[in-house]
Amino acid sequence: MNEVCSICAFLYCLNAKSPLSSLLTEHSYLYRMESYQFDNLSITLNKEGSREFSKVSYPIRYGRFAEIKTPDCIFQFNLNGEIKFIQGRGQSWPHPAEWLKRTVANDWIYFSIGSSYSSVYGFIGEYYLPCLSYPSNSIIGGNPFEDNAVRSAIKSWQQLLTKIKVLTSGFIPQSLKNFLSLVTESNTRTLTLRSHNLHDLIGGQLTVLPPDTRHVDYDVIPVIVADGCLYNCEFCRVKSGQDFAPRTKKNIIGQIKKLKEFYARDLRNYNAIFLGQLDALCAGSELLEFAAINAYEIFEFERSNLRDAHLFLFGSPDSLINSEDALFESLNSLPFSTYINIGLESADPATLAVLKKPITVEMVGEAFSRMLDINRRYEKIEVTANFIFGDNLPQNHISSFVELTRNRLDSFYSKGAIYISPLINGETKDVETKREMLRKFNEVKTLSRLPTFIYLIQRL
Ligand code: SF4
Repeated sequence: MNEVCSICAFLYCLNAKSPLSSLLTEHSYLYRMESYQFDNLSITLNKEGSREFSKVSYPIRYGRFAEIKTPDCIFQFNLNGEIKFIQGRGQSWPHPAEWLKRTVANDWIYFSIGSSYSSVYGFIGEYYLPCLSYPSNSIIGGNPFEDNAVRSAIKSWQQLLTKIKVLTSGFIPQSLKNFLSLVTESNTRTLTLRSHNLHDLIGGQLTVLPPDTRHVDYDVIPVIVADGCLYNCEFCRVKSGQDFAPRTKKNIIGQIKKLKEFYARDLRNYNAIFLGQLDALCAGSELLEFAAINAYEIFEFERSNLRDAHLFLFGSPDSLINSEDALFESLNSLPFSTYINIGLESADPATLAVLKKPITVEMVGEAFSRMLDINRRYEKIEVTANFIFGDNLPQNHISSFVELTRNRLDSFYSKGAIYISPLINGETKDVETKREMLRKFNEVKTLSRLPTFIYLIQRL
């Protein structure tokens, strides 16, 4: 509060046209927007973005953040003063409505409109295509990180720190000084260390996020409830190789408490958790409920800058089939909308054999039916499923997929998305192969009676 009053006294704020009495009233709560101009730097603190995640075809920001505009770029920072978004402003920037985002694991992702908004939406269910700075399974989009303007925007953020350091040594309002100090402390070295710190405190690398996390712009707080998975299939590039092993309640509560400290001020900008890792559903009702409730309370999601709360986890066909109704009743009663993503991969025995996934076609069919049933019965739960897609898979893979996702359903259902995961190494596959895979994807998407999208594997 003292900081806020000092702003009124200084009248540094650009809104200083208002009478002092009205400024005092407006400053009487902590989150008042403040704007400053220093030569060609425009700085705005406490900007308010949307409180709800939505799918829109223009740049949108969520929660509260700070912004520094230069003639070349818009830099946006989270409440810890860490760089989160960069958007180029010059002619050389690939597209005025595209931007870079830095994840909490310190990866840069370029959000592209692709060849058109509608084609990107058709492929991934979002208006923007996340282009990753590391190898993944994408069959759409180019590599914006080869673009000079994009590369120089990432470098220019580091150059900005030098300018900011000069400002902090001058006579400026305390709240601005506090923010700029946070920014200068969050240099590239600190951000790298913080990403290691995140993985250390949860006790693992997050090789993959559920595809449904796209609904919250991939901004999830990860809490690991179990390591490993049941099958360790040969084809899988994200497996840990460990057998399935649940964590203890003590470990889970320890992670949540440390995560609260880690996210610090920016915790207010989150309302979603990912219960990792690859088959959290198998951890059972008691552990899931324990983790979800404690995360909700300790992270104080009720006070989040964002409305509602979301919970994401992976499951396997075994864990979906063997989970009793009580588990889904328990999840449905939590203060979260829950998304459970199940790896089914194929309904064709020859393909399962090629993938060396040790489950049967009967299990895939049973898990698929359970998914439909849960989606009909539980309002706050959506079970989604993954299938593999590749140019060298056995002939019946596609027909068995259509049999499940079309012939088993009497009409189109909007709940229960199907994600198609291309078996591809983005660096080695040629353009023609990708084009052919996209053509086949469009064919099966048209036939499927469930929302069908491409799964872009992202890590955290
Ligand atoms: S596909 Fe799923 S079950 Fe198989 S190895 Fe990968 S994570 Fe484990």
